[in-house]
Amino acid sequence: MRAAIYREFAGPILIEELPDPELPVDGVVIEVKASGLCRSDVHGWEGRDPDIEVPMVPGHELAGVVRGVGAEVRSWKVGDRVTVPFCCGCGVCEQCRAGNTQICDDYFQPGFTAWGSFAQLVAIPAADVNLIGLPDDLDYPEAAILGCRFITAYRAVVERGRLRPGEWLAVYGCGGLGLSAVMIGATLGARVAAVDISDEALVLARELGAEATINATRGEVSDAVITATGGGAHVSIDALGNAGVAAAALLSLAKLGRHVQAGLLNEGPTPLPMDAVISRELEILGSHGLSVHRYDDVFELVADLDLSRLITRRLTLDEFPAALEAMRTFSGAGISVVTEFD
Ligand SMILES: [Zn+2]
Ligand SMILES: [Zn+2]
Repeated sequence: MRAAIYREFAGPILIEELPDPELPVDGVVIEVKASGLCRSDVHGWEGRDPDIEVPMVPGHELAGVVRGVGAEVRSWKVGDRVTVPFCCGCGVCEQCRAGNTQICDDYFQPGFTAWGSFAQLVAIPAADVNLIGLPDDLDYPEAAILGCRFITAYRAVVERGRLRPGEWLAVYGCGGLGLSAVMIGATLGARVAAVDISDEALVLARELGAEATINATRGEVSDAVITATGGGAHVSIDALGNAGVAAAALLSLAKLGRHVQAGLLNEGPTPLPMDAVISRELEILGSHGLSVHRYDDVFELVADLDLSRLITRRLTLDEFPAALEAMRTFSGAGISVVTEFD
């Protein structure tokens, strides 16, 4: 198969001919039709994710067609159109048995714990647990971007943040995760304040439903959000993953507000304004993807949405290495998806 591979952290990303993946007895091999570029691919390539051992084929946001089916798989057949959540479950641990595959004790993450989807083929174990069939009218690129950014935003906004119609949602960071949160918040009938350092990203956020947009390079951002929301947001989300951003997001909450940390913070302990957590009785919550069992709700939500508005670039596999390296400098708005692998 053709695939992207790096053999050292932050080293060259090469497009090479590699051996096809082995078919897991309980899993499938998927022909990848679309694979989204996510900031956690950058984290992983830079050596900031403890799960990764090199050499690694990155890619964890995918959709495609089943091409091989293991002997123990009961629910899937060759030709099925499928996706998977970026955090796949084992199916047998306590969390999986309780339905929480997104925090599986023995999780599988393509592109992190095994070779991923910037490749013509990817192997996924425990297929009866992890595969999700695609609605006929959902195209591969739109299905792929559900797999990490959109479902994490859904989990953060709907299930963890418990955002209600009419409430204010403050979204810090308008990359793929943040823009998904903006779209979901607006669709739920909430009011959305979007924060970023890029005017281009804020324009896109406004198009996707943000009522207030705040450029964080132009002054104190928490106060700006409190002013824009008339007293503070009910729910805040750090969709970037930065200690300063997480603190600012917390400080922009109204009393009894809920902060959801969805952007990855893997630089060690994160100082947070716990005095405000006490005096305003704030909640701090985490979001780590979405259980495979909750996808029906997501499909229902996106049925009336145009997810292609989140996708600003469609790339070939050969264009992937340069595009990933460019993400280090936060350039560009919206989501890039590889859709050509030959
Ligand atoms: Zn991701
Ligand atoms: Zn498990």
